[in-house]
Parts: sequence; structure tokens; C-alpha cells
Amino acid sequence: MRILILGGTADAAALANRLAGLADTDVMLSLAGRTRQPLAASVPMRVGGFGGVAGLKTWLVENRTDCVIDATHPFAAMISRNAARACDELGIPIVALHRPAWSKMEGDRWIEVADMSEAVGALGEKSRRTFLTIGRIEIAAFATAPQHHYLVRTIEPVGDALPVPHVTAIEARGPFDEEAEVGLLRQHRIEIVVSKNSGGPATYAKIAAARRLGLPVVMIARPESPDVASVGSVDEALVWLAGHRPPP
Ligand code: NAP
Repeated sequence: MRILILGGTADAAALANRLAGLADTDVMLSLAGRTRQPLAASVPMRVGGFGGVAGLKTWLVENRTDCVIDATHPFAAMISRNAARACDELGIPIVALHRPAWSKMEGDRWIEVADMSEAVGALGEKSRRTFLTIGRIEIAAFATAPQHHYLVRTIEPVGDALPVPHVTAIEARGPFDEEAEVGLLRQHRIEIVVSKNSGGPATYAKIAAARRLGLPVVMIARPESPDVASVGSVDEALVWLAGHRPPP
């Protein structure tokens, strides 16, 4: 069975590691190439875009792929759309592995918004000390609100992607710990947190920390995902795969 895992998440690496070395199973983990030191996985990896739907279809055919697992981040909408379309057109089974979104709990002060530009607006006119944890790629949206003080945490250096007067940049990769997050929010006198609704435990600590400190969180909703089968954990993905093994 030849499996393509579309990765860029800890779940993709974990799934790849669970499949590594299985008899009659060839796994390829595909990464976009956004991080210099991706999480290690003990299966072959390829890095870089396929070239849209057409390029992905060519790759799937040339590599005689039996099924695709879309284990990309829930906010990576383009690759998920492309994969759903390519698989549909080729008749290849596909499943999306996405952790369930976080839900609001008692004590949470979420300001729920649909996208990045609404998130910028939700900060308001008055200058606020803001913890921005939305990754690096879409951070430029906040350049339209230069009055705020931004504490930015990304995996890769943020460089000059956010050209505003007050930016403190830190580089770190989850998982994060709730006590440490409380400490960070206090140390930087943060007044508001901005987060994508990524789901999963690795980056939830900042949400729990904001709740403890009574801070508002601008929570960006997930983009619409394509209409394909979906599972919420690595274990469920393994069950799905077992049911899609081609006959010997
Ligand atoms: P995106 O907007 O959905 O994808 C943009 C283009 O990047 C795709 O059209 C594709 O290029 C290429 N690409 C994306 N994921 C790929 C993969 N796994 N393997 C090969 N090519 C891939 O994605 P994004 O939001 O820029 O995210 C890029 C990667 O970072 C994703 O793999 C995602 O899992 C990871 N990530 C994203 C976020 C986030 O918040 N967006 C957070 C954490 C991790 P072609 O059209 O040329 O094939």
C-alpha cells in the first residue's frame, strides 16, 4: 500500500512514525518546506509544493499512490482543497486528519472572528499589549494596526514581516506548558491574545493561561474544509487506513 501523508503538523509526523517499517506499506511524508528544521519522521520525505492540482495529480499517478492522508494544519486551506480535488478526479481515497477545534469553556473571554482581517479589527483603536500566536505567514495583516505592542511567537524568525514600531519577537515550537504561558503573559503585561483555533493539546496552554488571567482571546475560526472523510486522531487514521488496504 502506497500512502501519501500531507504533513506540516505533529500529528502527520506521529502517524508517519507509526506506519514506518510496516510490511507492504510505503509511506511518503510531504512538507511544504516552511520550516528549516521540520519534526523528524522515520519515513521518506519530500519537500516543496506539487504545482497545484495538476502537479499533485501527476505525482500521485507517477508514484502509484493508493491513498492520501491530509494531515496538514487546519488553516492550510489551499493544499487541502487541492488534495481533495486531485483525489476526487483520480478516484483515490483520501481522509483528513484534523484535531477537533477547541471549544469555549466557562471563564473564557473569546472574541470569535472569521478571519485575519476581523482579528486585526477586534483589537480596536486603542493601543493594546497583544500576544500574537498565529504563525509567521499571515502576520503582515497586523501591519494595518501599528498602534499596538506585539509579542510575536513563531517557529521561524519573523524578520521584517510585521513592520510596526513595537514588536518583541520570540522563537519557540510547542508543546507549551500552562504555567510557563501564564509567566510569559505576565512578564510582557499582555492584555489580549490572538490565536487560530488550531485544536489539539500542543498549543492550548496559552488559551488556558489567558482564561486563568481573565484575558480576552481573539479566536480565529477555521477556514471551510473540503467535503472529504475525516478523523480526529492518529489512532482513528490508522483504523481508516486498515479499511482502505487494497486487496492482495
Ligand atoms: P496552504 O496555503 O494550504 O498551501 C499553499 C501551497 O503550499 C500549496 O498550494 C502547496 O503548493 C504547498 N503546500 C502546502 N502544504 C504542503 C505539503 N504538506 N506538501 C507539499 N506542498 C504543500 O498552506 P500554508 O497555510 O501555507 O501552510 C504550509 C504548511 O505549513 C502546511 O503543510 C501546513 O500543514 C503547515 N502549517 C500551517 C499552519 C497554518 O496556520 N497555516 C500552521 C502550522 C503548520 P502547490 O500548490 O505547489 O502544491
